[in-house]
Amino acid sequence: MFVILFGAPGVGKGTQAKILSTKFNLRHISTGDILREAVKKGTVLGIKASEIMKSGQLVPDDIMIGIINESISDRDIETGFILDGFPRTVSQAEALESFFTERNITGGVIIVLEANEDALIQRITHRVACKECNSIFNTDLLNDVNNCPECGAVKSLYQRQDDKEEIINNRMEIFRETTLPVLSYYNEQRPVCKINGLQTIEKVAEDIITALKDAKLIPATV
Ligand SMILES: [Zn+2]
Repeated sequence: MFVILFGAPGVGKGTQAKILSTKFNLRHISTGDILREAVKKGTVLGIKASEIMKSGQLVPDDIMIGIINESISDRDIETGFILDGFPRTVSQAEALESFFTERNITGGVIIVLEANEDALIQRITHRVACKECNSIFNTDLLNDVNNCPECGAVKSLYQRQDDKEEIINNRMEIFRETTLPVLSYYNEQRPVCKINGLQTIEKVAEDIITALKDAKLIPATV
């Protein structure tokens, strides 16, 4: 099976993808993490992506589609995967559909995490990420804003460049104008499940699992 997690910046796609990935042994494919990793390593892709991401702009479709083509292996197709951060434009969604057709990939669902923009901006500007394990934390809930409570790395928490306040408004606007139309595209293509993304992490995860059961992608007894 595959799951496409869809939603505005900050709605918790990464967090939920990690939970699902662990619970159902699905590969978590985060285009954001892949890009940030490439930036860190200074690869050709990283150098290209770096400037674009710093300004909160979308990385061009051809780069993103290339990443997806390279990232989804035969094994992922067999065991299942979660897409987090892709597709972000209708062209990317169309490219993904052709990819699915070519590789004969079936049995997927689009999970939409919904939330209002003001709540998300508040949430994003209060979050930090771990340089080592890519976990995301809310600074309001951390006792120690330097060290990672997940992997234990020291002084590994930082505010992502694209989470800074001046960048967020730009990202939200791009989401409304460029990414939201992907949903209308999918409404006509695939099962789409909408979930309230402002609930607790546990409740959102529970609702996603219910949606996967309803779509008959996992057994009702899980
Ligand atoms: Zn960590």
